Amino acid sequence: MNQSGRCLCGDISYQFNSSNVLSAHHCHCTDCQKSNGSGKATIIYISKRNIITSGKPKYFEQRGSIGLRVRRGFCRNCGSGILSYIRELPMLIFVKAGTLEDSSWLEIESNFFVRSAKQWDLPDKSIKCFRKNPSLFSNIKTIYRSITGR
Ligand SMILES: [Zn+2]
Ligand SMILES: [Zn+2]
Repeated sequence: MNQSGRCLCGDISYQFNSSNVLSAHHCHCTDCQKSNGSGKATIIYISKRNIITSGKPKYFEQRGSIGLRVRRGFCRNCGSGILSYIRELPMLIFVKAGTLEDSSWLEIESNFFVRSAKQWDLPDKSIKCFRKNPSLFSNIKTIYRSITGR
């Protein structure tokens, strides 16, 4: 475990090893914009078995663009969004990159939902851009790695 993060008040924290990170992405979907109060969410994909959390987030559940139930976890005390997952794919955790103590090592692979990006927070065109979701089900490799924990 060489990385750690926490919510603003510290009630919820987590640890993982950066070598277990599957990938990281900016999501410009309107749900992430509302949830974060910003132009995008920056999320780290990691297998559930490779992250240790302490504290109990409260979850807000909503159907995502392809009908799956997205559960966004936040601290009930300070409101920080910490992590989320899809109810149908609970082995894959999406950690909010801004909650890391040190994220200087992080490399972002692609942008999701560039079609709804705000003109005041335009997608980084130097990395891969998807108009919508790259479709988790088409991304068999990521799902397989999240199940096996690599
Ligand atoms: Zn908190
Ligand atoms: Zn999103």
